[in-house]
Amino acid sequence: MSDETIDAGRADVAHGSGLKHLRLSRVRRDEKIKLGSGAACVAHAPSHDVLLAATATLLMKLTALQDTFHADGRRALLLVLQGRDASGKDGVIRTVYGAFNPTGVTVASFGPPTKLELEHDFLWRVHQLVPKLGMIGVFNRSHYEDVLAVRVRELAPESVWRPRYDQINAFEKLLHEQGVIVRKCMLHVSRDEQRDRLNERMDDPRKNWKFRVDDLEDRARWDPYTAAYREALERCSTKWAPW
Ligand code: ADP
Repeated sequence: MSDETIDAGRADVAHGSGLKHLRLSRVRRDEKIKLGSGAACVAHAPSHDVLLAATATLLMKLTALQDTFHADGRRALLLVLQGRDASGKDGVIRTVYGAFNPTGVTVASFGPPTKLELEHDFLWRVHQLVPKLGMIGVFNRSHYEDVLAVRVRELAPESVWRPRYDQINAFEKLLHEQGVIVRKCMLHVSRDEQRDRLNERMDDPRKNWKFRVDDLEDRARWDPYTAAYREALERCSTKWAPW
């Protein structure tokens, strides 16, 4: 299955499922990105029932496509998921990856690097978790944290993180040339919606486990994160690995 087949399939399923208001926007390289409040998207969103029905249809298609992809074995697919705290990364993985046969799927989550990982280049830990041919992998956070968290929390000087945009583009090109289809999604959540979701995590005992004090610290750095996300989306949306 080629990149083009996957992208054409993506457009088809969106149109064929009644999701005509769903925006699947692809970022062009160096395009100026606006990360607004998100309210405009919500105003045109399909109803919950339409979304549920459409999702069920899409998941059935994905189940069938995965069998073909796995049997073909010539490509791997890597979905990079980025988003602020409470943007819904875990929920997407649970729902979408639940459609797949678990033997054909890998999920990797990236937290703060360990001492050993810090003794290597920033892509060392990432490269090992790229899915092999025939597999569909998802990164829950990724090497993009090295130009997001590292930049915003000043964990390394600019002279270290600034060259990483080019390094990331070169790394993703290598993967592409090796048969890995790389697609990247940023889950955009508005500041108000994040506040509501974080409050729910604090108030609802069933969700307490998801809450971390660090989430509030990152929330306080909303604008620097917006700037960092914008630059990552603008500089790293390539033909071979688009956002
Ligand atoms: P999540 O918030 O995604 O549910 P965690 O609670 O485990 O998962 O948080 C992961 C944390 O690890 C995030 O705050 C993220 O910014 C941080 N992190 C991930 N990669 C790096 C990195 N390379 N350098 C610094 N922090 C990182």
